[in-house]
Amino acid sequence: MIKSDSHVHTAFSTDSSTPMEEMLKKAIETGFSSICFTDHMDYGFPSQSGITEFLLDTSAYFSEMERLEHLYPQIHIRRGIELGLKEDVIKQCSNLTSKYKFDFIIASTHLVDNTDPYLDIYWQKTDETSAILKYYEATLKNAKSGADFDVYGHIDYITRYTPYMKKLRMENLHDDAYSLKNTEQFLDIIEEIFKILIYNGKGIEINTGGFKYGTNHPNPHEKILKLYHGLGGEIITVGSDAHETKYLGYSFNKVPEILKSCGFKYYTEFTGRKPAMFPV
Ligand SMILES: [Zn+2]
Ligand SMILES: [Zn+2]
Repeated sequence: MIKSDSHVHTAFSTDSSTPMEEMLKKAIETGFSSICFTDHMDYGFPSQSGITEFLLDTSAYFSEMERLEHLYPQIHIRRGIELGLKEDVIKQCSNLTSKYKFDFIIASTHLVDNTDPYLDIYWQKTDETSAILKYYEATLKNAKSGADFDVYGHIDYITRYTPYMKKLRMENLHDDAYSLKNTEQFLDIIEEIFKILIYNGKGIEINTGGFKYGTNHPNPHEKILKLYHGLGGEIITVGSDAHETKYLGYSFNKVPEILKSCGFKYYTEFTGRKPAMFPV
């Protein structure tokens, strides 16, 4: 049984309007022993609206966690963050992570060539294979950048947003053969990413957001989880990437079986930047 959600957003993130307290109450109701808030900090995110997006008010964020900790002593609040990495913000990110006492840091690729792959324009620039490959190349570069983090988030996140996947999602369908093809084609570069992460003592996460996107698979795909385990990867956190209370711990009942079938005996929770292992 998974007893904590290690990837959770609240209204401190530009793309969520859920008060942190609501999310915390949901975690208590779910029976979690802890929750790790990982609100977004994406330095240099290109603005769609003209207003600054994805910049976290870190001191207000810490104050709110402290306030809630006193009100709800029955649950352990872990202080996390999801950092959107790209070449020109690595220094800013490490300044932030050395200034605040985080329990857990997720690094994620949210931009490729300063474009959000969530947007249609990203896919109009080039063919699908090159567009996906570019995402992994950006991730490889970030993994090698010396950035300060604990796990790399949603490794194959890009595959959620291909035009075909978007179409399937609108029709509430999934296509396992397509997901598998879009996974197997990129295993070489993913292996390169994993070797760097493992060598540097970093981990990955199993992100159940994929299930709500109708992919029928976690992020990353089971094939990728097996690859990571086969290369000696042991650190794996479990997160729903919820932005609304209804998605907290989403599909976590599927996670133990998936992890076991990929060879894992333990999952990881970080406190004070240190990994603790729990049986799946
Ligand atoms: Zn993310
Ligand atoms: Zn997230």
